[in-house]
Amino acid sequence: MRRSTSKQTKYVFVTGGVVSSLGKGMASASIAALLESRGLKVTMQKLDPYINVDPGTMNPLQHGEVFVTDDGAETDLDLGHYERFLSVRMTRRNNFTTGQVYESVIRKERAGDYLGATVQVIPHITDEIKSNIKQAAQGYDVAIIEVGGTVGDIESLPFLEAIRQLRHEVGAQHSVALHLTLVPYIAAAGELKTKPTQHSVQKLREIGISPDMLLCRCDRPIPQGHREKIGLFSNVPVEAVFTSQDVASIYALPLHLNQQGLDERLCEQLNIWSRAPALDRWQHIVDRVTKPKHTVTIGFVGKYIELAESYKSLSEALIHGGIHNNTAVTIRYMDAEEIEKNPDTLATSMAQVDGILVAPGFGSRGAEGKIAAIAFARQTSVPFFGICFGMQLAVVEFARNVAGLAEAHSTEINPSTPHPVVSLLASQQDVAKKGGTMRLGAYPCRLKPGTRAEAAYGASEISERHRHRYEINSTYHEALSRHGLVFSGTSPDGTLAEMIELPQHPYFVACQFHPEFKSRPMEPHPLFRTFIAAALTFSQARTG
Ligand code: GLN
Repeated sequence: MRRSTSKQTKYVFVTGGVVSSLGKGMASASIAALLESRGLKVTMQKLDPYINVDPGTMNPLQHGEVFVTDDGAETDLDLGHYERFLSVRMTRRNNFTTGQVYESVIRKERAGDYLGATVQVIPHITDEIKSNIKQAAQGYDVAIIEVGGTVGDIESLPFLEAIRQLRHEVGAQHSVALHLTLVPYIAAAGELKTKPTQHSVQKLREIGISPDMLLCRCDRPIPQGHREKIGLFSNVPVEAVFTSQDVASIYALPLHLNQQGLDERLCEQLNIWSRAPALDRWQHIVDRVTKPKHTVTIGFVGKYIELAESYKSLSEALIHGGIHNNTAVTIRYMDAEEIEKNPDTLATSMAQVDGILVAPGFGSRGAEGKIAAIAFARQTSVPFFGICFGMQLAVVEFARNVAGLAEAHSTEINPSTPHPVVSLLASQQDVAKKGGTMRLGAYPCRLKPGTRAEAAYGASEISERHRHRYEINSTYHEALSRHGLVFSGTSPDGTLAEMIELPQHPYFVACQFHPEFKSRPMEPHPLFRTFIAAALTFSQARTG
């Protein structure tokens, strides 16, 4: 294999134009996957122009899922795509925001690091951005840097200026600017429109960045003539104008881009010599997703179901569980608040469901609906999987309906419950600030021999990522165990309950951590593999 001849990290800067939600994160991750499949060492970074220090305090409906890394950073959901498409794990260095940049610069200013200087956007803010990018890129063959937002936004200007400078510093053969735009089809006119792309590229060039490659999002193939026109007006050779079409599965995107020669072109422009990409692994995933043997339907009980992005890693992890079982997973989103209002309709709404998943969450809205769904799963032997809040509420349900503690609750929802079976973590008692203060990131967990959990993982020590303030109150561990609840996973010192299960039930498993963050199409997470397997068994029994 021929590797890059120079030690200089190569940069691919990905910007977006025209509108948001073009799938920039997915496209960037796919490009990274292609380069990785050529044997290159690739990392990624997301730059977010908003002022929040991280997305941890934002409503999932505003921002989508908050993705948690092993080192406990609350990050943009694009990092989830990065981890699913690449073999490297992300850290807090792989995502930063305007808020973080300013926080750091202001801290340095107060410390006297810039004594004598007027602290300004250029050079102080842009230097800070460049230094964050270089730090994350260090030691890699290629770093893909994705800029959040849309070109033309005021907020992203310092990021783009920093990138302009960095491109100038590293030289043309070490960096590529790739711009993702939209080529809309106007049905009434029966025409594809290239003007938004032309304008977006002009905006980028005004800032001093001339894109080397364009990736045009379109719902259909873009004819050669249109690509030539786009190329001509954007100063980009037509061979560097690519299409990102809607694909059957997101995991088909690397193949779709490779078929057009995008990675080839990228390597040429960056002067990288590499082996041909090994893409059979991706082809295998796509075959599994597009030609499954079986199907199951999972009832997904949550609070933010209007926006599928709010549970992105979870819905992907369910699909991964399906890939392992050669099964297509249809997710039926069910609003916990609706269930709460009409619990009697549960039997009807769950009739076609082969497994029930109760999602993570915060606060009282919809909590009783989630508890009703859990009771239904427990009583009717439908496979159940509870995650974080889903596990806490499974314990509340069990305490109320099996252990006879009728008014049991979590103190998050009812602080004066006589039976606080879920209560604040000891480490959270004195925490007043909301940003980045939960129990976050990877913690070790010990699994109990002979449990479903241990069998699923095939290990007795695991590490999983957390994001919570409450826990199962240890005062109740014994009483709940006596009634048949098995604490199948605990912190190594045995004090914190990390997993529970009901051995008499076909599949009733819940965890305090977020297994969805570590699932990948190539390595489906054990708990999603076993949950989907149980749902498949249930479905086959149900339909005979
Ligand atoms: N609200 C619960 C807690 O803070 C659960 C959090 C979650 O589901 N991520 O502990």
